[in-house]
Amino acid sequence: MTTTEAAIKSVVPKARFGQGKEVSVTVSFQEELHVNVSLEGGYCWSITTSDISDGERRVKEWIRLGIQRVFQECYDLAPSPWGTLTGVRPTKLVHSLLESGSSWKEVEQILLQVYGLSPYKKDLLVDVVNRQRPFFHANPNNPVSIYLGIPFCPTRCSYCSFAAYPLASHGHLLKGFLTALRSEIQAVGALIRELDLKVETIYLGGGTPTTVTGNDLRDLLSLITQELYTPETREYTVEAGRPETLSWETLCILKEAGVQRISINPQTMHDQTLRRVGREHTVDDVRNAYDLTRQAGIPIINMDIILGLPGEEPEHVAYTLQEIERLEPDNLTVHSLALKRASQLKANVGEAAIAHALGDVMVDLARESASRIGMIPYYLYRQRHILGGLENIGYAKPDAMSIYNVQMMEEKQTIIALGGGGMTKLVSPDLSLVRLANPKCPATYSQQVASGLDEKVDQIRAHLTS
Ligand code: SF4
Repeated sequence: MTTTEAAIKSVVPKARFGQGKEVSVTVSFQEELHVNVSLEGGYCWSITTSDISDGERRVKEWIRLGIQRVFQECYDLAPSPWGTLTGVRPTKLVHSLLESGSSWKEVEQILLQVYGLSPYKKDLLVDVVNRQRPFFHANPNNPVSIYLGIPFCPTRCSYCSFAAYPLASHGHLLKGFLTALRSEIQAVGALIRELDLKVETIYLGGGTPTTVTGNDLRDLLSLITQELYTPETREYTVEAGRPETLSWETLCILKEAGVQRISINPQTMHDQTLRRVGREHTVDDVRNAYDLTRQAGIPIINMDIILGLPGEEPEHVAYTLQEIERLEPDNLTVHSLALKRASQLKANVGEAAIAHALGDVMVDLARESASRIGMIPYYLYRQRHILGGLENIGYAKPDAMSIYNVQMMEEKQTIIALGGGGMTKLVSPDLSLVRLANPKCPATYSQQVASGLDEKVDQIRAHLTS
């Protein structure tokens, strides 16, 4: 693929090459740098700059912007609010511009003029990045964070692409999985003591960690406290995404273990949609779990919702948001539906009436709702095949932002991941990354963890002591 073809694909992913209109790109350096992009039929875009060194760095981006602009004009395409930014983590671009010496003013100009962002998305990005900067540490390995993946769920949601195995079909693997996880926790705990590591945050995700109950849960959390907690640990989170898993007993175990944050994820406040996407709980289950969690005294509750679920239009989203405002959680994570390859919904996309064209209306509703309950956006990311080319945004009350979410999203801290589907990210001072993946399947994880553990710990040790 030529550079021009690659640039076209990056802004018009379905473009095909062969017979058709000719695109021509010319770049000339003389006194000034001039980039011209034209499409047969008279559509043309150009830019001229006298700052040659800056221009040389920007040529590729300008070609992409020019291609996007002439295609929009020729084919009457709606302008993308994210301009030519196609990456999953647009915040990373802003962090790297700041770290290479750009001022905030220059960053804003680059976002508007080089990447073609809409003024609103530019403001959002700048706002989010500004809030994230205080979370970063000078050394990505001091402190570190810990993730533990529990890959079981009550049932599998149709849009799910995570490591999530239904209890009905895979519950018999749970005991073996917990035994294997215990050995991984002990090995990482020994490494923490050996290297005197500081652990900033601990996060149990999955799956739904609260599918583990009673003494199994009590033993797991007590082992985590004993092995992984350090005096520097500031944040302890457990995802309890499925409200039907939150009994009073479970909540008391979480509270006694010192868990400070949990997620109770309604996704929608419509029973019909919940059934349609394979979640076997009701809206009342969400309300009950929320009330019980407040009674148990777990300080911070996050709620996740998804915009663009099958059959839902802006009025459904408005109702969901209104009900969430009544509950007033401390965090609200707003996902725009992404049809990932591993989801059943992607396989049955013909059955799903997905309101892609209305995505931006729904995103605006969510932003207004979050603001009404005093929340601010503090992390965001995008996904392939996401509703309307939009984004996922984490909102929080100003004193309730999740450190782990920022560290995980921005990849500026080493995260040691244990359990099913855990992805360890070893971050170097130059912010390069090495990933070590654990198997997703609980059976494979249980079989392989013992044989691969020494090598994994050696790799982490080598990274942390290099
Ligand atoms: S609750 Fe979350 S992890 Fe579990 S099946 Fe549903 S989307 Fe997947």
